[in-house]
Amino acid sequence: MDKMYDVIILGAGPAGLAAGLYAGRSRMNALLIEKGQDGGQIATTNEIENYPGQVVDEEESGPSLIARMTAQVEKFGCERVSDTITSVELTGDVKKIVCTGGEYEAKTVIIATGAHSRPIGCKNEGQFVGKGISFCATCDANFFEDLEVFVVGGGDSAVEEAMYLTGFARKVTLIHRRNELRAAKSIQEKAFKNEKMNFMWDSVVEEVNGPDGVLSEMLVRNVKTDEITKIEADEDDGIFGLFGFIGFLPNTELFEGQVEMENSYILTDDNMCTNIPGVFAAGDLRKKSLRQVVTAAADGAIAATQALKYIENAE
Ligand code: NAP
Repeated sequence: MDKMYDVIILGAGPAGLAAGLYAGRSRMNALLIEKGQDGGQIATTNEIENYPGQVVDEEESGPSLIARMTAQVEKFGCERVSDTITSVELTGDVKKIVCTGGEYEAKTVIIATGAHSRPIGCKNEGQFVGKGISFCATCDANFFEDLEVFVVGGGDSAVEEAMYLTGFARKVTLIHRRNELRAAKSIQEKAFKNEKMNFMWDSVVEEVNGPDGVLSEMLVRNVKTDEITKIEADEDDGIFGLFGFIGFLPNTELFEGQVEMENSYILTDDNMCTNIPGVFAAGDLRKKSLRQVVTAAADGAIAATQALKYIENAE
């Protein structure tokens, strides 16, 4: 720990990568820490059609957009480390980030650790994650080639990912707790036209089971009538898929007790400043009205620009 960075950016999703780009371009001594692959939720999103300039065709996807963002960050000289953050000390003038593989210090920190999928919330869920239950269509769709698949949720993610799954599964049924979708009308229109798509309205998954250790049974409750429907895998299949897309929870546990939050979302002002001087937050973990790649990238750009101003004012 002999180096003092101008800024350490936590997380390499669209917010962190945009912050890395702006920090690098402004010649800040910047370090970007990511524990897994770049891109956060976008890395597992098949189709992005609303990021400005991103045109959906066979060559374009979430990963391809992220690959370009990563290359751009590298081009402008932001340092990278692959490590898992275990604790942070943010309140002093020198910010300390403790990781499994080492400790890092900086004058400023940009928190961009993103969010993770909200669990479906049914009985026995944990036992079947990776054994029938998934939260990533791009990662797991091919396991369900020609099988039956169920998708929980009614937002943009659920409907788009369900349609992606129709390219693999024999039949895809969307289970939604209301009788109308939250997804954008343009996305809904495509789904209603898709012959492989089916809909179970006013329904929630109560319990999942599988005597052989893989998901082969579930109980679905109609929230209006309380009627329970038992769904069983086709005998020849022995398994069905259950994908959950019911929103996200912010990855902010590490910052609890230091950074001000509301319902686990970090509170910032318009300049991405948190309650701690020199600590900024960007992306989906922030309390805000629209969580999209474009707003995450904008947050990252603002946070890096403000981090530079903070350092200049302190000198
Ligand atoms: P979302 O918009 O928050 O939708 C979550 C869906 O899950 C809703 O339909 C909700 O039902 C349902 N839900 C929530 N909690 C549930 C529970 N406990 N049990 C059952 N169902 C539950 O989440 P999202 O679809 O992941 O989208 C997140 C953000 O990313 C949104 O801003 C979205 O617009 C954006 N996004 C955009 C695109 C795109 O523009 N192409 C693609 C993906 C995501 P209710 O409707 O009844 O509340």
